[in-house]
Amino acid sequence: MDQNCIFCKIAAGDIPSATIYEDEEFRVILDLGPASHGHALILSKEHAQDVCVLPERLRAKVLSLAARIGAAMKQSLGCAGFNLVQNNGRPAGQTVFHFHMHVIPRYEDGPDMVNWTPGTTNPEELEALAEKLHAALEL
Ligand code: 5GP
Ligand code: ZN
Repeated sequence: MDQNCIFCKIAAGDIPSATIYEDEEFRVILDLGPASHGHALILSKEHAQDVCVLPERLRAKVLSLAARIGAAMKQSLGCAGFNLVQNNGRPAGQTVFHFHMHVIPRYEDGPDMVNWTPGTTNPEELEALAEKLHAALEL
């Protein structure tokens, strides 16, 4: 636990939160600044700055937990779908440096969010990029 980390304190229950699920490894809370009605955050109980340093055991579990939360949102909130968003690093929009995954309910005719304008590329650029990334993965 990091004494200066607000999500460590929330995950441990030292700071109260609207908790919708808890087990030994995760606490799922409602976001205080929701992007949509029911926006939830899956917090690891163990402190890890981002997904790159989250223990493999937790990485493997978080996606199935997110799927369960999303299914419960569809059933209980009537959303038509949901986004899973997980920011790593300040330029990626991360503001709290303790691993968390957003589960954001999406409603028919709801506001557009989690979106981007598609850029352009070409086959040569894609091939060069793919080679570079492939090489990095083999390291
Ligand atoms: P990030 O931008 O790091 O991916 O997401 C941080 C999220 O945490 C934001 O959506 C923000 O509204 C939420 N948040 C920040 N502080 C608190 C808090 O004290 N309690 C709750 N429930 N949510 C918080
Ligand atoms: Zn923490």
